[in-house]
Amino acid sequence: MLEQFDRYPLTFGPTPIEHLPRLTAALGGDVEIYAKRDDCNSGLAMGGNKLRKLEYIVPDVLASGADTLVSIGGVQSNHTRMVAATAAKLGLKCVVVQESWVPHEDAVYDRVGNILMTRLMGADSRIVPDGFDIGIRQSWEEAMQSVRDAGGKPYGIPAGASVHKYGGLGYVGFAEEVRAQEAAMGVRFDYIIVCVVTGSTQGGMIVGFAADDRADRVIGIDGSGTLEQTRAQVRQIVDNTAELVGLGRAVREDEIVINPDYAYPAYGVPSAETNEAIRLAARTEAMITDPVYEGKSMQGMVDLVKNGFFPRGSNILYAHLGGAPALNGYAYTYRNG
Ligand SMILES: *Cc1c(COP(=O)(O)O)cnc(C)c1O
Repeated sequence: MLEQFDRYPLTFGPTPIEHLPRLTAALGGDVEIYAKRDDCNSGLAMGGNKLRKLEYIVPDVLASGADTLVSIGGVQSNHTRMVAATAAKLGLKCVVVQESWVPHEDAVYDRVGNILMTRLMGADSRIVPDGFDIGIRQSWEEAMQSVRDAGGKPYGIPAGASVHKYGGLGYVGFAEEVRAQEAAMGVRFDYIIVCVVTGSTQGGMIVGFAADDRADRVIGIDGSGTLEQTRAQVRQIVDNTAELVGLGRAVREDEIVINPDYAYPAYGVPSAETNEAIRLAARTEAMITDPVYEGKSMQGMVDLVKNGFFPRGSNILYAHLGGAPALNGYAYTYRNG
């Protein structure tokens, strides 16, 4: 579905799928759990899902003649780290607006992890007080204008690279990759678990898996706590991406599955259950998940398995999208493990 689009390689290529036997056993052994390791997808500043999206955006950046990438996220944004990495790799300048998305206080929150690496890579990181919102923001427009005012040519990448016209393509590619890996492994995945916030990861997967009519097996676990806005954004990305790749049919509402039950108490704030899930994955598989995103999708998967949501014998694919650097901003929360 992607032959007609240019891709600028930022990742190592297809990511491994691994079986997780100790997590499978810890959850009772009725379903088999696998992970697709998009958290290990690149040598660029620790990688993650945003790079898979950016691979399809970079050709448009280069064609535009821009000299500065401008983007936006929270203080501990993985996305702005990945935009800074892409800019460094391409030899472009970078301005990232970092909003106060998370009501979390830790003495080193704005100095470690993602934002530390973002600064190391030379990005101009601007912290602003605005709260959580996945939409297009005034502060982002202002950053764009500040580049123009200084005589530069900005290229704007929205939060999570999601509402960019090509933002959904990378995760259409994920679905195609999974199909090829299923054939090679002799395994078919009955469900795919994915964290959703700005929407183009799940949105791309939905379009990719709609091609073999299993979009409704992509279970989005909301991490935003603003379900309606996230769902509307996924819907918009699905429609735009389906049109772009020529899916040839409309995606139905029932093919967009987002579970809102694990986002509490707020975006970026782990619940006691999130922390238990993070510890479980770490202690059974040495698989590190974070309190903002993957810890919540891990919590969702664990709870759905325990509640019998998946029929016995199901093969479940957990999409690990990255995010571990943010853990450093929660040093006090996890001081005792
Ligand atoms: C951005 C991100 C997500 C959410 O993906 P969206 O495409 O924004 O829905 C999940 N996990 C990690 C680690 C992320 O950085």
